Amino acid sequence: MQLNKHYAELNESYLFSTIARKVREYQAAHPEADVIRLGIGDVTLPLPAPVIEALHGAVAEMGVQETFHGYIPSEQGYPFLRDAIRGYYAERGVKISSDEIFISDGAKSDLGNLLDCFAADNTVLVPDPVYPVYVDDNVMAGRSIVYMAANAGNDFLPMPPADGAGAAADIVYLCSPNNPTGAAYTPAQLKTWVDWAIEHKAVILYDAAYECFVTEPGCARSIYEVPGAERCAVEVCSFSKMAGFTGTRCGWTVVPTGIGSEGQNLNKMWLRRQTTKFNGVAYIIQRGAAAVFTPEGRAAIEENLAYYRRNAAVIAAALDAAGVWYCGGKNSPYIWLRCPAGMDSWQFFDWLLDTAHVVGTPGAGFGPCGEGYFRLTAFGDAERTKEAAGRLRSALAKL
Ligand code: PLP
Repeated sequence: MQLNKHYAELNESYLFSTIARKVREYQAAHPEADVIRLGIGDVTLPLPAPVIEALHGAVAEMGVQETFHGYIPSEQGYPFLRDAIRGYYAERGVKISSDEIFISDGAKSDLGNLLDCFAADNTVLVPDPVYPVYVDDNVMAGRSIVYMAANAGNDFLPMPPADGAGAAADIVYLCSPNNPTGAAYTPAQLKTWVDWAIEHKAVILYDAAYECFVTEPGCARSIYEVPGAERCAVEVCSFSKMAGFTGTRCGWTVVPTGIGSEGQNLNKMWLRRQTTKFNGVAYIIQRGAAAVFTPEGRAAIEENLAYYRRNAAVIAAALDAAGVWYCGGKNSPYIWLRCPAGMDSWQFFDWLLDTAHVVGTPGAGFGPCGEGYFRLTAFGDAERTKEAAGRLRSALAKL
């Protein structure tokens, strides 16, 4: 037996363990410090009431022979949920058919699993800084990875490479609104990517896990707003941030029927992959997810999203008052700030913890281009976020 040697090539992820250790050590040395965490990507608010009601209803159904659900008729997901998602896109004029929608247990699994359908010698293009999962999924499979810089020069929205190794990439990851930078592409920018992908016979794996946070009319919520995307782009979505499903686990992936290469069709391959390796998402969970799209569900999630948006505005106001450069926060729960006074990411982390007792995430942890930047999240408790923003403002004023 031989083990997959590529696992030995994975970089240990020190980011969150280092943060946890530093906070532990700080608290041990300063037991009186009231530390506020604005570093986590998990949500604060519980599941909305219409979702809970639907979950209860589905649990009751499972206890009655006539309404019991066993193996799911289609690993792809129940039609009631796929149709609801189709309707969600249709509201925005995006036409997708139900057989292009696959229900998943979240975006993270599909972002990795999709790679089963692609050749191991494909080259992958990923932004830097980046959600680390894209990189690790491909390192595990032994693919060669090319990085494209996201920086202040391109508003943290890299565009297709004209030359170099990236120009020959087969698989491109785009995340918009972006984790960690909060930057969001416009449809015009995505059109450039789609044209490039079609011309280069590449596929775009588009992570839209934060699409529900888009508020500005000029920003895209789906890559399928762009004509041609149905020929080159897969879109991965999630109920995690949209409706508080981080622990409940549900998402969806759109694999258009029009993507293929050398006689093979990606939609058919993904269906085959899922029917072989996945037995679908629990009926109960799919019922809970479908409740998100009812009028009551939509109203409830809008309230939750408004809560997080207010947090983002509170953090942004503190940075504005201090004249600190940042992006994100408007179409995203993440605020990406430039560390003031020439500090690097970890220096700012230490300074902020020591001066304001506030914890965030050093940008350098997301890739070399993140050095000198810092991520704060709007997913915290509103009162604690106000308190943290107040402390941030006074600490920055003293610099
Ligand atoms: N994609 C991005 C960019 C994320 O930040 C996250 C989670 O933080 C995910 C995907 C994973 O989402 P899910 O909970 O649906 O697996």
